[in-house]
Amino acid sequence: MPKMTRQTARTIFERLAEARPAPKTELHYKNPFTLVVAVALSAQATDEGVNKATKTLFEVADTPEKMAALGEKKLGDYVKTIGLWRNKTKNVLALSQKLIDEFGGEVPRTREELESLPGVGRKTANVVMNVAFGEPTIAVDTHIFRVGNRTGMAPGKNPLEVELGLEKIIPDDFMQHAHHWLILHGRYICKARKPECWRCPIVDLCQFKEKVMSPNPPKKEKPKPAAKKATTKKKTLAGKPKLRAAPKKKTAKKKAPAK
Ligand code: SF4
Repeated sequence: MPKMTRQTARTIFERLAEARPAPKTELHYKNPFTLVVAVALSAQATDEGVNKATKTLFEVADTPEKMAALGEKKLGDYVKTIGLWRNKTKNVLALSQKLIDEFGGEVPRTREELESLPGVGRKTANVVMNVAFGEPTIAVDTHIFRVGNRTGMAPGKNPLEVELGLEKIIPDDFMQHAHHWLILHGRYICKARKPECWRCPIVDLCQFKEKVMSPNPPKKEKPKPAAKKATTKKKTLAGKPKLRAAPKKKTAKKKAPAK
């Protein structure tokens, strides 16, 4: 795959920006703390599923103090529709407590401090830094990983490689929103199973080799089954295989009557 130029990357972002001039996260949140919680809950879950659960949760607990006061049982009741909720419940309570104990109840702004919170990894830290504090970070999730690789913009074997590749190639003036443009492009057009290349605004710039150029691509013909080999078994007149005669049962010899 040839290396993509910065000029091509610029054209890609100009087109993505034209398609979605004001991109933003689809996770619902009220403040930096609820954003941290929403992102921590969203691992291996859909934004829609998380939003359903947090709608009522954030009405009663939108600060670390209120969240910690809920305790495991009550918090679990709010989030048990989300995958891996038991672990996530523990992490949300632990991170709330840590924010109270070490950060005065405020969400810290640096990557190191954010990553020190239970359940917060590099991806979550990047989302919080970007969305809550306006930092030009790229949080590589499954969609960005796929788009970065397929387009040839930032090929990489793992999320960190893709993140660093994107940071190098994305022009500075697009960095702030690049993360959202790529996520939304991956979620709605460059889909995992069947990318909708026929309506993709960057189709001519993308280097993916297996583009899908029609919503109804012709079905591949199934290979015909190989002809059966002629059998050498003898057949009866009725065409059925000849049955072997059952072996005769050995009968015990009758003893001669005693004289
Ligand atoms: S052309 Fe297809 S593979 Fe390339 S970015 Fe667009 S949807 Fe994805």
